[in-house]
Amino acid sequence: MASGENQPGLLAGCNAGRCTAEVLAAAQPYFDKYRGFAVAADQIDLAAAHPKVAFCDRKTLAQQKICCQLLGRCTFGLPRAHQTATIRDMENALYVVATPIGNLGDISLRALETLRGVDLVACEDTRHARQLLDHHGIKVPMLALHQHNENEAAAKLVRLLGEGQSVALVSDAGTPGVSDPGARTVAAVRAAGFRVIPLPGPSAAITAMSAAGLADARFLFVGFLPAKVGARKTAILELAAVDAALVFYEAPHRVTETVTDLVELLEPQREIVIARELTKMFEQIERIPLGEASAWLAADPNRQRGEFVLVVSAPPAREGLDAESERVLAALLTELPVKQAAKLAAEITGQPKNALYARALQLKDA
Ligand code: SAM
Repeated sequence: MASGENQPGLLAGCNAGRCTAEVLAAAQPYFDKYRGFAVAADQIDLAAAHPKVAFCDRKTLAQQKICCQLLGRCTFGLPRAHQTATIRDMENALYVVATPIGNLGDISLRALETLRGVDLVACEDTRHARQLLDHHGIKVPMLALHQHNENEAAAKLVRLLGEGQSVALVSDAGTPGVSDPGARTVAAVRAAGFRVIPLPGPSAAITAMSAAGLADARFLFVGFLPAKVGARKTAILELAAVDAALVFYEAPHRVTETVTDLVELLEPQREIVIARELTKMFEQIERIPLGEASAWLAADPNRQRGEFVLVVSAPPAREGLDAESERVLAALLTELPVKQAAKLAAEITGQPKNALYARALQLKDA
């Protein structure tokens, strides 16, 4: 029952003074899956609603600026997304939501609000995501989206977005698309013309970098190295001359092998930050010379347990240019004047422009 004599009179043709059941029955044909209204206790909450009825039509919410407080139980027709204290205006979009890498407290307010508000959460492992959602009392339909079904799942998300729904994408931990599924989904959603809204939050690489304290101006996120020894060593050799700190992800069963290869193939005066179990109970962040890393890991079996980020500092400053910069500069000088060749070589190789310019002059004069 609408309360008070002065309440607006009509709801979808019904007199608001009649009983709630009649109002609901008469209103039902006017409500599709995107619409509902708030019925709390025996009152239709007209006071907070605008205009007279608390419609929550996704397509018109933005214009109507409805934000209606629900005072209690919802009787029918109210989309799940709106069964919260406040009706949110969820845009018809894919929300890419970062989630904690260990400590559940690291979820953002915006991530919680979004997970609560969307129609569907696409997640790498539904059991895993369930734990996070249950922890925060969020009930929302889920869809498995992992590396083995990403294309089909992405196509389904695009269909749902086409029906006006809002969807969140989460991975098991951290930021989707960072060494995790998500990139193909985002590409498909964007190609279909829908908005992708990123919600920043935890990522193991950035968390490790923030505690590494390395002075290097740049870092290269490598992620996982190849599992096979030969391919892993080749990858490390290709990275050896990169003038930046290197950030690797590694699993506990491979960390010893990987660290052994890094020690063997990179300069021993480089430093390594071994960051394990970040944000968790047994978090450990150790910064040591690379040459000491194998011995440090071997000293205690616990040091080989858990999840790892390995950060290796940039190579020591070299006298002169490395072979790759020499090659690039020489090639550019065959076509360009000294200044332009040096500028372009600096952009390509990341080496200092003045060093390249000096070397270009030498090569021109030779
Ligand atoms: N999407 C995630 C992110 O944004 O960081 C990464 C997912 S990737 C499949 C998992 C890897 O991330 C682990 O093998 C480990 O290398 C790293 N990682 C994840 N959580 C971590 C933690 N709490 N401490 C250290 N490394 C972690």
